[in-house]
Amino acid sequence: MNIEKLVDPIFHRQKCNACGFYTVYQAIPAGDRATDSCTHCGHQVEIAWHPEIKGVFKNTERLLRDMEEILPELKELKNPGDHILLD
Ligand SMILES: [Zn+2]
Repeated sequence: MNIEKLVDPIFHRQKCNACGFYTVYQAIPAGDRATDSCTHCGHQVEIAWHPEIKGVFKNTERLLRDMEEILPELKELKNPGDHILLD
């Protein structure tokens, strides 16, 4: 029986501090840390991984969804590598 636990990467949208684009970020949990990386420029940050983190991503999603009213381009951030520049 295979009991190896694989955690799926979590994709979430955010503004990347490295490339300045709004991009799709990929969080890969490893224990109590996670590697969060920009799927556009490859910039990586290490973040603390805790049960509430999905709630944090969800809050950001809610914020971005509100922003979609004014910036419909944000809806196009769906797949790894997608990036848009907003000022
Ligand atoms: Zn980036």
